Amino acid sequence: MSATTVLIIGAGVTGTGLARDLALRGISSIVVDKTDINAGASGGNHGLLHSGARYVGGDVMAAVECREEGGILKNLAPHCIEDTGGLFVAVAGDDERYVADFALNCRKAGVPCREVDAGTAREMEPVLSDGIIAAFEVPDASVDPFRLSLDNMAHAEQLGARFMPMTRVVALRVAKGRIVSVQVQHVVTGEVADIKVEQVVNAAGAWAGEILALVGREIDLVFSKGTLLVTSDRISRRVINRLRPAADSDILVPGGTVSILGTTSLRAAHPEDFRPTVAEVDAIIDDAKAMIPVLDTTRYIRAYARIRPLFGSSSNQDDRGVSRGFALLDHEAQGLDNFLTITGGKLSTFRLMAEKTADLLCAKLGRGGPCQTRNVALPSFSSGKWTEPGSAPREWMRRKDTDEKVICECEIVPQSVIDEILAGMPAASSGTTLLSVGLRSRVGKGPCQGGFCAIRLSGYLYDRGVLARDQGLEEMRAFLEERWRGIRPIVWGYQEIQAEFQEALHCGLLDLELNTNTAGRG
Ligand SMILES: Cc1cc2nc3c(=O)[nH]c(=O)nc-3n(C[C@H](O)[C@H](O)[C@H](O)COP(=O)(O)OP(=O)(O)OC[C@H]3O[C@@H](n4cnc5c(N)ncnc54)[C@H](O)[C@@H]3O)c2cc1C
Repeated sequence: MSATTVLIIGAGVTGTGLARDLALRGISSIVVDKTDINAGASGGNHGLLHSGARYVGGDVMAAVECREEGGILKNLAPHCIEDTGGLFVAVAGDDERYVADFALNCRKAGVPCREVDAGTAREMEPVLSDGIIAAFEVPDASVDPFRLSLDNMAHAEQLGARFMPMTRVVALRVAKGRIVSVQVQHVVTGEVADIKVEQVVNAAGAWAGEILALVGREIDLVFSKGTLLVTSDRISRRVINRLRPAADSDILVPGGTVSILGTTSLRAAHPEDFRPTVAEVDAIIDDAKAMIPVLDTTRYIRAYARIRPLFGSSSNQDDRGVSRGFALLDHEAQGLDNFLTITGGKLSTFRLMAEKTADLLCAKLGRGGPCQTRNVALPSFSSGKWTEPGSAPREWMRRKDTDEKVICECEIVPQSVIDEILAGMPAASSGTTLLSVGLRSRVGKGPCQGGFCAIRLSGYLYDRGVLARDQGLEEMRAFLEERWRGIRPIVWGYQEIQAEFQEALHCGLLDLELNTNTAGRG
């Protein structure tokens, strides 16, 4: 039986951030995830590094936390952040009271805010509607959550932590009021193993309740579904927020070569309700065009959805009114003295969530130094650097190797980048190579959404001996199904032509019809 000091369930920003925090304090950990890095909300969010301005009207504590944490991250992980700046803009008909109070509310929370007149705002961002009536500049930014988690995990591993992807927690063994071991199962091979533990942290996000159910405990969580849209081009330089109390379709976040528009907040039945719908997409675009008219006609290449776990809110009917703060629960009060749950919160505040959790763990363990993530810069690792748009083409241009084939033509990802990703991939990820490579790179993220590169990548993986027999077809099916879920609700215009071509290619030529068992699922 293997053993660890702390077993962390979930490899989102919280779990990977916690592993790094603990490693810097000299505490070893194993992170397990039933899928891979950022399989939950951490891999399906807006990518907005909040300045805090979004929350000044209703949740000053959240605003202050975002301001402080945003500043720390900009200093210590600049390679994960594009410091775009942000604008809050109101259009005719928006709540004038909210607009009038905004600057004062920002001042109260210490969030820098500068009023600009409508003309200047439109010079700064020409896509803004000529109907805007007020604008304020704030220090919002965009963050690459994949690079953040990959680098956090890589740094933790360098300092002794271990990551086990495709590893689901299936049982927690309890003796005398303590969890003594955690049973895990590899989702591909079915192999079961027990890990002896001193402490266990449930960082399973929206699945936190499922983990607690394994030991007969409950948590008051509701699921709020957020849907987002990806444009094929970048629409603005800055983050653009609608200046009104939080509502749908309020935020456009630029990320590299694209922009991300959203989001909704709809009550969902379960944590894997990941399927964006046509009605959600239509509603988002319909609402957002008042702020940025071009959003009505621009090309969208994908939609995606994820679940926010909102804590302490089952009796509240309005999910927008529930705090987006985090909950750190010590289950000692429920008779389990080495078990914590950390859930809720924001990508922007993940470091603080990890710090608070690690502080409590160290107190329970009676060892471990003070938190260092406030001061120690996050190094950049090769495992994380290929998620940045432009990094692979830059490398390809630098090498000037005319024989080197490009695997993904939309994002210009050459063979050498695939080789580097494969070399750094965790061993246990076997069985989902295409998805794992996609997660660690820009493969499949461009306008064709995997149409061509899924075939090229499979072929290359056969050449490299990574795939054998008919594995490539199953790999492609899983990869393309995941992409199709995002294409399905935006099939019009160019994307319809693209989808019809892909249907002919994948179904007509390769017989890759959708798997009837999973086609209708979230
Ligand atoms: C639509 C949307 C937009 C958002 N936009 C922003 C934003 O712009 N800015 C911002 O700051 N925040 C944003 N957030 C919030 C942010 O994304 C989350 O707070 C954050 O990602 C939560 O990370 P986490 O690690 O706690 O949970 P998750 O990322 O959900 O990770 C939980 C992990 O647990 C794993 N897991 C579950 N069950 C098991 C099991 N049995 N065994 C092993 N592993 C398991 C899952 O596979 C998953 O990887 C957004 C959230 C949503 C949903």
